[in-house]
Amino acid sequence: PFDVLVIGGGPAGASAAIYAARKGIRTGIVAERFGGQIMDTLGIENFISVKYTEGPKLVASLEEHVKQYDIDVMNLQRAKRLEKKDLIEIELENGAVLKSKTVIIATGARWRNLGVPGEAEFKNKGVAYCPHCDGPLFEGKHVAVIGGGNSGIEAAIDLAGIAKHVTVLEFMPELKADAVLQERLYSLPNVTVLKNVQTKEITGDDKVNGISYIDRETGEEHHIELQGVFIQIGLVPNTDWLAGTIERNRFGEIIVDKHGATNIPGVFAAGDCTDSAYKQIIIAMGSGATAALGAFDYLIRNS
Ligand code: FAD
Repeated sequence: PFDVLVIGGGPAGASAAIYAARKGIRTGIVAERFGGQIMDTLGIENFISVKYTEGPKLVASLEEHVKQYDIDVMNLQRAKRLEKKDLIEIELENGAVLKSKTVIIATGARWRNLGVPGEAEFKNKGVAYCPHCDGPLFEGKHVAVIGGGNSGIEAAIDLAGIAKHVTVLEFMPELKADAVLQERLYSLPNVTVLKNVQTKEITGDDKVNGISYIDRETGEEHHIELQGVFIQIGLVPNTDWLAGTIERNRFGEIIVDKHGATNIPGVFAAGDCTDSAYKQIIIAMGSGATAALGAFDYLIRNS
């Protein structure tokens, strides 16, 4: 059996596996797609100590670092079930069952897509999901934020400090964000809030140049010229396969303590699939290190 089996090959999983392997214990990684969300990222400017890199380039460095160690990497394999017996068992979609003394879940998350024309086409060409990552690219420009929940309104307030103008589009007749956030939003001079509107299309040529929406009360269609669209309608953790086994919060995020431990002894979690406060590469890597050290501590106390 493995000592530490990591499920997920994004920044959290890679970091966890390297930290575990450096203890000289038997370590494996199962990943549906090694690299995770950073495979879909163009420019990265907030991975501290690296001024600028690109997603696939950072994934290549992660892979090279992982390969420095004796880590059994099982790429293109999806875990579908976890069961705690004497050892922890992970069943893969292909039917194989892997056994390990400890497991670190680092299956990440995905941004919920709007599903309108132009969204996929202009991804990284004006369509963005992360204001902390891509906000500064829109300095002095006009951007839209889709979604009036807490994350949408936080994004709008954040972007209003960088962009020239921010238009918020909310599908429902009212914003869902906390009152204090709404107050702060409405106090800003360069923000317009459109409620009860349905985004119809993100328009552009080689990059985004506008957004079309329908006023749900009148049925009229409108178009705004702008350069960026931030979609903030939810970040969904990849934890469905753990339903009924590991304790999760109402968003489906795995609940972890400060050692990365879950409610099941020997099972740890790290990165965007957990209830960590912020979802970023550097934070995912830090939590991967924490979970690996947590798992190592568990091993020396329990075996
Ligand atoms: P992920 O990167 O989501 O990796 C999850 C891993 O688990 C993947 O390997 C996946 O294939 C695997 N997996 C999922 N389910 C299973 C399963 N059932 N079995 C096996 N494997 C599974 N952050 C920044 O700090 N700076 C940025 O500039 C930045 N830009 C971004 C741009 C975009 C377009 C996106 C989408 C995100 C961006 N982020 C950025 C956020 C950052 O990518 C994430 O916070 C980070 O990747 C989280 O790492 P993770 O390892 O927790 O999860």
